[in-house]
Amino acid sequence: MEKISLNQPAEQKVLKGINLIEKGDLPDNNLDNTWIELQGSRGQFLAKGYLSAQNKGAGWVITRRQEELDLAFFVTLFQMAWNKRQAYHAYRIFNQDGDGFGGLTIDFYDGYSVFSWYNEFIYSQRANIIEAFQKALPQIKGGYEKIRFKGLDYESRHLFGQEAPETFTVLENGVCYQVFLNDGLMTGIFLDQHEVRGSLVDGLAAGQSVLNLFSYTAAFSVAAAMGGAAETTSVDLAKRSRELSQAHFEANHLELDHHRFVVMDVFDYFKYAKRHDLSYDVIILDPPSFARNKKKTFSVAKDYHNLIAQSLEILNPKGILIASTNAANLTISKFKEQIEKGFGSQAHNYVQTYRLPADFQINKKDESSNYLKVFTIGI
Ligand code: SAH
Repeated sequence: MEKISLNQPAEQKVLKGINLIEKGDLPDNNLDNTWIELQGSRGQFLAKGYLSAQNKGAGWVITRRQEELDLAFFVTLFQMAWNKRQAYHAYRIFNQDGDGFGGLTIDFYDGYSVFSWYNEFIYSQRANIIEAFQKALPQIKGGYEKIRFKGLDYESRHLFGQEAPETFTVLENGVCYQVFLNDGLMTGIFLDQHEVRGSLVDGLAAGQSVLNLFSYTAAFSVAAAMGGAAETTSVDLAKRSRELSQAHFEANHLELDHHRFVVMDVFDYFKYAKRHDLSYDVIILDPPSFARNKKKTFSVAKDYHNLIAQSLEILNPKGILIASTNAANLTISKFKEQIEKGFGSQAHNYVQTYRLPADFQINKKDESSNYLKVFTIGI
């Protein structure tokens, strides 16, 4: 394969992630229609690609890794593209009044469904509902149910059809997430955060140190690691979070050397980080709407500003905060007020806003049904 040395501006372009090669990037040569290896100004390997004159441009960078561009490369290339198109193997199929019937949600996990009953009446209708569901979507292999009202002596059980494995992985944006459909109300992943995880996979976290607070099974950390994060730290006070988080990393064949799991109260972790001079490039805040630990209570509506202010103390210059809440009782403007109070006089800019993804259909006339609010904020 021909080797071509780039000048410094062209090298910078390639390092920044630009793939289109232009005539001006190349030293004088007669090469066309051939694979090439690009070298930097110090003679080091930069990328592999090919040259071929086209309407705009003289060729393309294909990979920045020392890999063969052979049949196996193209097989993986097409599999990855396919997987991205099937972006989510787990998603919400039916969302309350957004889909025309309040009190019920149905989620899909790679062939299996999970019904959540939010009140006794809809629960009493379930024989009819399941029969209709199976008629409409016979391809769905089986179902589980979650009880989200008081008065029954169970909260999760198998409902119909085939049983799913106790744990299995579902794919989202090329990342595997480990789920369990019959262990309490939660399943290992919050489906409404597809897009925020997607942003972490797609480059927001590349090369960065990431702190994921209220991390649960560390789904955001896994997304960041798959997106090239240099290191991640996941903090949650639930003891079980460590084991579930590790399983998540292992499902993606990620080494654990640069990924830490800390079982601790987030407010204690702020003190710990300051004491040990730890700081981060990206901090993710996704607390429950309301929580109680020891004698303290935390509510998003009153205390979010405190999370922001404490995070700023351990955020690196040019760092990014991802501020998320799922509190339905807090409007987006009230949430922003909390955030602004936390930033005080610290300069900052809102980079991106995420609301519920398209699979979570909302009732457009009811703001509270659009409960998810996430801001990416840079300093
Ligand atoms: N961000 C997660 C979901 C968080 S769920 C995700 O995307 O998957 C909320 C989590 O906060 C729970 O796992 C709970 O154990 C944890 N939690 C609640 N109060 C906490 C506190 N004070 N300190 C640390 N973790 C807390």
